[in-house]
Order: sequence, then C-alpha cells, then structure tokens
Amino acid sequence: MLRFLSSFALVWIILLMVAQATSPYVMAASSRWSMVVTLLGLPVLGALTGGAVVTRLRCPRALHPCVDATPHLVLSGLAAGLASAALTGGVVLVTSDGVGQLLAVAGGSAVAAGGAAWLLPRVRPGACVHCGYELVDLARCPECGRLSVDVERSSI
Ligand SMILES: [Zn+2]
Repeated sequence: MLRFLSSFALVWIILLMVAQATSPYVMAASSRWSMVVTLLGLPVLGALTGGAVVTRLRCPRALHPCVDATPHLVLSGLAAGLASAALTGGVVLVTSDGVGQLLAVAGGSAVAAGGAAWLLPRVRPGACVHCGYELVDLARCPECGRLSVDVERSSI
C-alpha cells in the first residue's frame, strides 16, 4: 500500500509545486500549510481510505504481503493520482463552496484510489498469489515457480 500511496502522492506533490510556481500570491507563507493540507493531506487521506476499503472487500493480489508487485503498484498509484486530480479538478471548477471543494478533493481521491485498487487482480483461494495460476495441491506454482502461499492462513 505504501508504494501505491507514494506514487499517488507524487502526482499531488507535482500539482502543489505547479500551484506554487504559477500562483505565488496564493501560496503566501500564511496559507502555505493550508494548501499543503488541501493539495496533499486530503488526497492522500482519501486515497488511503478508498484503497483500504477496496483491499478489505476485494483483496488485490498486488497488495498481498507475500507479493512484490512494485511496478503494478507504482503505475496504479500514478493512474489513481491522475484520475483523482481530474475528478477533483472537474468538481472544483463547478462549485464555489469551500467545504464542497474540500469534500471533492477527499472524495475524488477516495473514488480514484478505490477504483484503481479494484482493477487489480484479486487473490483467489486455490490460486497462486503471485501470478493467479490455478494450483491443485501443488507446493510450487508451475507458472511462476514460486512456492504456494496458503491464502486462507495468510493475512492481507
Ligand atoms: Zn504463480
């Protein structure tokens, strides 16, 4: 989850840097921390919530503790970050309510991160947690060569 959230946050860090470079009057020292919270803290908190809910509901293979799926998680996190920025930007453009904009940032991030996590292949009982190959009482996966993990006993 950390790799997913790190790449998700990278998109919002870049947006924060762009906001600072293009609108220095908005990013005055007095409002800098509120912008950091709005453009980094809320999206990451929303993504953490959305990702955690989907992980509980669907158990994505890439988020299983025995699986090293760094490229998938980084790409999914970047896609979720871009999607959340697009969702949030769209809502923020049509509403002028400050609370509504904050909810849009958090909600858009939760939806985008949850959607990206939902698209990851899920852990299935009786299948290899690394590649998804159907295992029938095999100690080693014939597809990827890794030892099988008892999905029922391992935690996600
Ligand atoms: Zn396998």
